[in-house]
Amino acid sequence: MNTDRSHALFTRAQELMPGGVNSPVRAFRSVGGEPFFAARAEGAYIEDVDGNRYLDYVGSWGPMIAGHAHPAVLEAVAKVMRDGLSFGVPNALEVEMAEEVRRLVPSMEMLRMVNSGTEATLSAIRLARGATGRSRIVKFEGCYHGHGDSFLVKAGSGALTFGVPNSPGVPKALADLTLTLPYNDFEAATRLFQEQGADIAGVIVEPIVGNANCILPREGYLQHLRALCTKHGSVLIFDEVMTGFRVALGGAQARYGVTPDLSTFGKIIGGGMPVGAYGGKAELMRQVAPSGPIYQAGTLSGNPVAMAAGLATLKLIQEPGFHETLETRTHRLCDGLEAAAAEAGVAVTTNRSCAMFGLFFSREKVETFAQAVACDTAAYGRFFHGLLRRGVYFAPSAFEAGFLSSAHGDAEIDRTLEAARAAFREVRA
Ligand code: PLP
Repeated sequence: MNTDRSHALFTRAQELMPGGVNSPVRAFRSVGGEPFFAARAEGAYIEDVDGNRYLDYVGSWGPMIAGHAHPAVLEAVAKVMRDGLSFGVPNALEVEMAEEVRRLVPSMEMLRMVNSGTEATLSAIRLARGATGRSRIVKFEGCYHGHGDSFLVKAGSGALTFGVPNSPGVPKALADLTLTLPYNDFEAATRLFQEQGADIAGVIVEPIVGNANCILPREGYLQHLRALCTKHGSVLIFDEVMTGFRVALGGAQARYGVTPDLSTFGKIIGGGMPVGAYGGKAELMRQVAPSGPIYQAGTLSGNPVAMAAGLATLKLIQEPGFHETLETRTHRLCDGLEAAAAEAGVAVTTNRSCAMFGLFFSREKVETFAQAVACDTAAYGRFFHGLLRRGVYFAPSAFEAGFLSSAHGDAEIDRTLEAARAAFREVRA
């Protein structure tokens, strides 16, 4: 596999950008080696600048659920962009988008479009704090909500201690306001609310944790968080940036039948363009400027070209059987990966939810963040490179979920499993 052009670009990039990239995981640090530079992508495949073609299970980290460069999305973008790239006054597509999102996710009674998942989550916690007049927020170990200061915090010596920032630059005073809980631990959440419930503005959670690979909620866990928030007057925020429109048309909240007060979206909602959204109960959203005092704004928010890409993608995923087909294929892939690993004598388990999955180098079913971090990440790195050499691109980190798109057909899954059988043998060797 020739990678000369990617290597030359990466060499130049490292002089210019921190780590040579505009987002850290792209640098391949946790699996070793160097990233490939993309030239184009289509359907389930991405091609690099050296002409190598990879079967892609990252999908631009989530947005490309209908496959790369889907003709319907490209046409929608091309049509809209000819009328201008940005107006700075309202446009009809913003209204269409809001109506569409509310139809698909009924808890989004009102919403605001932003430009990234990070913006969506930052805005949602500001709203939770502003609306409740409280300062503390609760997050969960292993959940990622973008790079806002309040989220770059992990637990200190336990759930009830004050947060400790895990990035320099996050003020300690702010980190103190973020309390961290172990995901899927009912008792810890109950205890925290008993002790500090009156100070908790909101709880933010990835309903399925896609940033610790893929951890599903235990039976009743999301309902438990709902009940605690209701009892203590805290705002329940589902961060559906990853799960939204992916694990079901109505997101994880539809899949598990739990209604949050606020939700955040990104990725699929923009169809590959920089888009996010937050929204929920009208009584909360009406407190956002200019109808209320809680400030939040954006020069490019609701951008017409971005709305066109998002709307076209949301239309595609409403085709009959869209998610059912994805779910069947994800099961086939994950069952196949487990069988291939067993054949090679490598211990792995998988978690899946419709079009997302996690592959863990572990003997036991993974239900907690502690179990996820205990997995053999070095083995994952070897597996990753074994696949990549055979033209299959999994996420360059053991802690990222895998994504399928509607362009991943049976032939692609067969190819993946063939590559996986060889890669697992190498992991063992
Ligand atoms: N929330 C979740 C659950 C995410 O997975 C991500 C990004 O991966 C974000 C928020 C941040 O979104 P963005 O990278 O668009 O700022």
